[in-house]
Amino acid sequence: MTQINHYYTELQGSYLFSEIAKRRTKFMEENPNAGIISLGIGDVTRGLPEAVVKAMHAAVDELASPGSFRGYGPEQGYDFLVQAIIENDYKARGIDIASNEVFVSDGSKCDVGNIQEIFSQDAIVAVQDPVYPVYVDTNVMAGRSGKFNKETNRYENIVYLPCSAENNFTPSLPDRKVDLIYLCYPNNPTGMTLTKEELKRWVDYAKANDCIILYDSAYEAFIQEKDVPRSIYEIEGAREVAIEFRSFSKTAGFTGVRCAYTVVPREVQAKDAGGNTVKVNDLWNRRHTTKFNGVSYVTQRGAAAIYTPEGKAQIASIVDYYMTNARIIRDGLASLGLEVFGGVNAPYIWLKTPNGLDSWAFFDKLLSEANIVGTPGVGFGQSGQGYFRLTAFGSLENTEKAVERITKLSL
Ligand code: PLP
Repeated sequence: MTQINHYYTELQGSYLFSEIAKRRTKFMEENPNAGIISLGIGDVTRGLPEAVVKAMHAAVDELASPGSFRGYGPEQGYDFLVQAIIENDYKARGIDIASNEVFVSDGSKCDVGNIQEIFSQDAIVAVQDPVYPVYVDTNVMAGRSGKFNKETNRYENIVYLPCSAENNFTPSLPDRKVDLIYLCYPNNPTGMTLTKEELKRWVDYAKANDCIILYDSAYEAFIQEKDVPRSIYEIEGAREVAIEFRSFSKTAGFTGVRCAYTVVPREVQAKDAGGNTVKVNDLWNRRHTTKFNGVSYVTQRGAAAIYTPEGKAQIASIVDYYMTNARIIRDGLASLGLEVFGGVNAPYIWLKTPNGLDSWAFFDKLLSEANIVGTPGVGFGQSGQGYFRLTAFGSLENTEKAVERITKLSL
């Protein structure tokens, strides 16, 4: 019989969200009138910005007539979108990115998941802990993780970089040789950020140790503070060692529409089996053009509209809406004496569970006593034990109601 890719058997079940759903369903069956509020999901709730909707409607009309119809487009993205990205997300901040360094895609999940396949199977991977699970699972599928240890809740060949209140969620540099380092800032799940000086340590480390940083910046648009870097390329030397991932999902309500992009500077290099240097950009271009046939024209027109003056204003107001929710959650919990992190430059609030409760015990308490669903921190990794994630992506009304309910709890 045909053999499977046996590395798939090393994957741990998607325990986190299925377990949340199970406990939520059970509670709802037993308490049908509870009026549950979910602050657990990472999905957005506001509609698409008007400028995006208008641009997408117009693009559909263009496709309707043979004179302006478009079929397959460039796999890397249409020039109108690539130029808008370069001008607004980079040049406006003094960063030079060339058009052949931008790869438009149907989502950052695919990009951060697929990028590993252009590197050697022997590559040693470092991830933050807690972590967005896609980085780990895609390396498990590729055979880089080794066995999962149920006692440590970790894979034996993955290098984990713990992030907790003790180190202010700033991971230490790896204590052994690594090849690929996934960094996510603003961070999911902790909502925390690095300063330019802290990020520079990572760029300097990568340069000195010949490794590549995979910098997931899906939440860049939520940054409010001035000294927080919006792109890793603000750091000198980053063009030689960093690949950056950005998404329109959370910024512009594109979680269902699907559009993102990845920047691979021409300077980023790796070695082939003969020890010769290879441009990572060439490999990613080869992979992208072989396995991907481009984001739809309609979607790319919608994404480009985000960069028009109306689009920018509408997006700013969406971000503002979610960040108001974040502030309400943060301030509400802090006023109860809870230790809260994140929520200043990110739509995620990460709290230390009170009275030493473990993450799942706090989940049960919040569900049963306040009828609120959140996400247990331990689901993102062992260093998330004793923490809990709430998101700012709900409606303002539900967010205010949820905080009011939490205020009434005995914590
Ligand atoms: N990266 C991080 C850190 C995320 O939290 C998410 C989505 O939740 C993604 C990437 C996926 O983004 P996209 O919707 O563009 O696939």
